[in-house]
Amino acid sequence: YGSKSPSSLFSSEHKPGYQIDLPAINMLPVKDVLRNRILSLDIDRCESDAENAFFVANLDEVYNQHFRWKSLLPRIEPFYAVKCNPDPLLLRLLAALGTGFDCASKVEIQTVLDIGVDPSKIIYANPCKQASFVRYAAEHNVRMMTFDNSDELYKIKRYFPDAQLVLRILTDDSMSLCKLGLKFGASLDSTGSLLQTARKLDLNVIGVSFHVGSGCYDENAFIDAVHRAKFVFDLASELGFNLYLLDVGGGFSHSRDCDGITFEKIAAILGPEIDSLFPPNVRVIAEPGRYYAAPAFTIATHIIARRTVLSNGDVQTLDMDTVLNDESPTQEDHSGYMYLQAGDFRWGNVGGIFTFGENLGEPVYDCSIWGPTCDSIDCITTTSNLPVLLPGDWLYFEEMGAYTICAASQFNGFKKSNVIYTATNSEDDVEDLMEDLWILCVGFRLHYQLVGQPN
Ligand code: PLP
Repeated sequence: YGSKSPSSLFSSEHKPGYQIDLPAINMLPVKDVLRNRILSLDIDRCESDAENAFFVANLDEVYNQHFRWKSLLPRIEPFYAVKCNPDPLLLRLLAALGTGFDCASKVEIQTVLDIGVDPSKIIYANPCKQASFVRYAAEHNVRMMTFDNSDELYKIKRYFPDAQLVLRILTDDSMSLCKLGLKFGASLDSTGSLLQTARKLDLNVIGVSFHVGSGCYDENAFIDAVHRAKFVFDLASELGFNLYLLDVGGGFSHSRDCDGITFEKIAAILGPEIDSLFPPNVRVIAEPGRYYAAPAFTIATHIIARRTVLSNGDVQTLDMDTVLNDESPTQEDHSGYMYLQAGDFRWGNVGGIFTFGENLGEPVYDCSIWGPTCDSIDCITTTSNLPVLLPGDWLYFEEMGAYTICAASQFNGFKKSNVIYTATNSEDDVEDLMEDLWILCVGFRLHYQLVGQPN
């Protein structure tokens, strides 16, 4: 599926000027990478790097997700939503696998072009764009872009009259954690007049897009949305347009837990519905973000402090000997613990939902978990149950690749978390993956040798 020859990414057309520190790729299971890293740290020497949260990215997961997509939704071309996680190796692997990219800004477009992706494989999927960014897209021949209002049409007429326009419509996002319809999407009532304005301005409308909302937990939302898109296709046809692109957006679950929504459940109804409503000459793309990025990243965080909350609500301050000898109060004496952990959490890395990794089988106690900043909204959860933890212990959270690294801030002067890479599948596919990554590595080294250090 897609090009297996990422060496083209390093051809002479490759644009100089970008920077990447090519990281080493481990070949161990994620838990071994976590363990090795933690055991290699000398916390007693109090080196600051030893306490920082870090991610482990398992690149096999990206590869596996792509295989899953291609097997279950072969008609729909994924354009990865860069905003979800612009990790450089993740982007390069997806480019090597042949996906397209959904970019939301000039920097995202630049990043994707700089790894050698063809402009035709990019959709500028932000319905409200800065004028200078539209001009940038025009200069670099990134033609596909979305709109949902008439002002945007006038802007595009001025800065990129040859753009290929995709009308973003509103859908029912009530079944999603992140309701993007609060901000974007034209109501069906307004689509007729928007198309007429586009016609008046002699603009080239090629299709319809929607987004059912990020973290969608009802697969039927996709079905409702494709019916709305079909309505607009028909309306456009009556107005003399010949639309040929359907963009079904993001919101695809990566979960394999059959009790909730899964990618399999979405694919089972979405694929056939599209086939029944849209003839084969209609090109269908999607903008998955979370689906690709979430399962690939695990974050490990270090407990930097513990506060014991007494039954009367006071916080007991323990001296270090008490902590180290674990003479902390029993559950009868107190109502729980507050753990502060390293890593830019509420403010960045963990803004969303997370799951705990391993259940250690020990007695658990009520606790709350907080980030390290001085702000009290820096709270991960107020209602958790964990075995007693001590400062110096580590927690890890799986499936943390979506909207985490990209949203990390340096509020209060805390550092962003590093990423360690691994790839471990033992099947034949992985030989291809490693070959791809090997070529990527060799390509970069060659590039460095031939062209020198990028500017
Ligand atoms: N496309 C657009 C326009 C978006 O705004 C988003 C997320 O905000 C995505 C795609 C990716 O969504 P998800 O990560 O839920 O797949």
